[in-house]
Amino acid sequence: MLQFRRFVFSIVSALALASPVYAGKLAIVIDDFGYRPHTENQVLAMPQAISVAVLPNAPHAHEMATKAHNSGHQVLIHLPMAPLSKQPLEKDTLRPDMSSDEIERIIRDAYNKVPFAVGLNNHMGSAMTSSLFGMQKVMQALERYNLFFLDSVTIGNSQAMRAAQGTGVKVIKRKVFLDDTQNEADIRVQFNRAVQLARRNGSAIAIGHPHPSTVRVLQQMLPTLPSDITLVRPGDLLNEPQVDTSRPHTPPPATAPRNPFRGVNMCQPKQTPEPVYATRFFTVIGESMSQSTLVQYFKHQWQGWGNKA
Ligand SMILES: [Zn+2]
Repeated sequence: MLQFRRFVFSIVSALALASPVYAGKLAIVIDDFGYRPHTENQVLAMPQAISVAVLPNAPHAHEMATKAHNSGHQVLIHLPMAPLSKQPLEKDTLRPDMSSDEIERIIRDAYNKVPFAVGLNNHMGSAMTSSLFGMQKVMQALERYNLFFLDSVTIGNSQAMRAAQGTGVKVIKRKVFLDDTQNEADIRVQFNRAVQLARRNGSAIAIGHPHPSTVRVLQQMLPTLPSDITLVRPGDLLNEPQVDTSRPHTPPPATAPRNPFRGVNMCQPKQTPEPVYATRFFTVIGESMSQSTLVQYFKHQWQGWGNKA
């Protein structure tokens, strides 16, 4: 009986000491690099896990990509892709009707202009990324350069993940835009949303822009990141569980989504709700339990019983 009481007491103690079930990896990417060296240098002064995406034809593209890499930040190519709405476009913006050769040429050119890039994400692109055929041509080119694709998800029905099937290209998806507005209170709300999604799903990717307000919020909030949240690079999330929520062969919506493009101000539409990752939930519980004091206790007990017998 005494042994049984000790046993129950041990279980209760172990449960109390068990490591928390929830923990999350958060990747933050700052897009539209190459136009505003002053603000971008402030981003490069932040923790090395903050990654940057450089517009290949921006005036400071080569310089900022090199500087980012030399200061330990992961570099992505921020490739302009055609939006559904009419607006001024960057040079060499990818369109679904371009040939494979033309898309390959643009990606090769971007790869040369953005040194040290390990991945690529889309600038705008609601028309391009919703075209399965267009994105299949992109994925074939990315495979050649061994680049992963970070889907900025500028349209709900992006075909990027579907287009990558059968290629070796890894696709990961943006979950939160930090600065749809440049109001600091709004950006703080979005930052906290990214933290909550990272905790709930195991990981989350947030994208922001080199605006002074975004920089100020990151400078305030990064030092107080909750202890169960780890800042990672997007390249660290290539093997995280991904859910493809796209619908196949859907024509573009009749009304174009909001996607204003003034210089390099914005490259995203409104937030869309994100699915909960049930599989990830159980994986986290599994990982957490296998490392928990409770499981260690049982392992110890098992070995103990074995010795007594
Ligand atoms: Zn952009």
